Amino acid sequence: MSRVYNFSAGPAILPVAVLEKAQNELTDYHGTGMSVMEMSHRSSSFNDIIESAENDLRSLMRIPDHYKVLFLQGGASTQFAMVPLNLMSKHKKADYINTGSWSQKAIEEAQQYGTVNVLASSEDKNFSYIPSLKTLEFTPDSDYIHITTNNTIYGTLFPELPEAGNIPLIADMSSNILSQEYDITKFGLIYAGAQKNIGPAGVTIVIIREDLIGHATDFTPRMLNYQTHSESNSMYNTPPCYPIYMAGLVFKWLLENGGIIAMEKKNREKASLLYDFLDRSSMFKGTVEKDSRSLMNIPFVTGNDALDSLFIKEAEANNLKTLKGHRTVGGMRASIYNAMPIEGVEALITFMKHFEEINS
Ligand code: PMP
Repeated sequence: MSRVYNFSAGPAILPVAVLEKAQNELTDYHGTGMSVMEMSHRSSSFNDIIESAENDLRSLMRIPDHYKVLFLQGGASTQFAMVPLNLMSKHKKADYINTGSWSQKAIEEAQQYGTVNVLASSEDKNFSYIPSLKTLEFTPDSDYIHITTNNTIYGTLFPELPEAGNIPLIADMSSNILSQEYDITKFGLIYAGAQKNIGPAGVTIVIIREDLIGHATDFTPRMLNYQTHSESNSMYNTPPCYPIYMAGLVFKWLLENGGIIAMEKKNREKASLLYDFLDRSSMFKGTVEKDSRSLMNIPFVTGNDALDSLFIKEAEANNLKTLKGHRTVGGMRASIYNAMPIEGVEALITFMKHFEEINS
């Protein structure tokens, strides 16, 4: 077996044990004589798959009973519209914090349905920090407040959550769900595309407090109404069966490996190895303010575009793949999701040291 260290921001690395399990079960799932891809979503086998995926996610994230878990399609980008369609219905106002391209897209989408107040933004410094939450002035009759907990492109993470009293907090957790502990009761709704810490692209997870269901704006299409999916347990139409199955395998892998507490510890170790190296290096520099640093996506630069390109090219040749940064930040970005072993981060640092010695 030949595997590389894949630092892609998403679709991203998956645990080898999960891929091997899927491979073993590919053509004959549990004696059914068919693959999960070929199976009716109404079959008892698939029903077991979706039920265990939900139960395992509930126990991993300690999701209380008064929250629904939905397995949807359309990616996190569809949530940019579903959130305002379903929740911006009372006062037609919502508060957003702008911490980068994804929150900007969420803002632009919400502006189609009501008044958006951008409470804070880090655009002035190319989104290299999370704005202070101390000075936030929430709109008193806001229907919700929206944040992006981890900003995949810029490598920032909210070090704490805004406390908006009774106003529901909505979080796009696409790039750091399952990577650290969160108290679910602090949120009204959490959504995440799968292709980073959950599984393959194609399923989007929504965790929603029950009282927020059933208030959609009149013109909301049925498929975009949380009530539709909640009432039919994510089976209103054909769900993304195979990605749900794969997500279920990832949840089992997480449970077998100590759950989120163990994962968070490992993620903190991996991230500090790389940040400590960046802080000491005379060639490479992190691009994010220290107290806003992500545990999942770590952008860095040399300050010289030609050197950055050479680094990316030579890293590729050394099996350290997909390290090119997003075009809006430039340089490099190492995405080190749950499935990235510590050895991958160590191999990257060893290569960076070697590159620095040769090129300085
Ligand atoms: N939000 C964040 C934080 C992201 O990183 C991404 C990209 N994966 C998206 C939203 C958009 O996700 P999708 O491609 O699933 O629509």
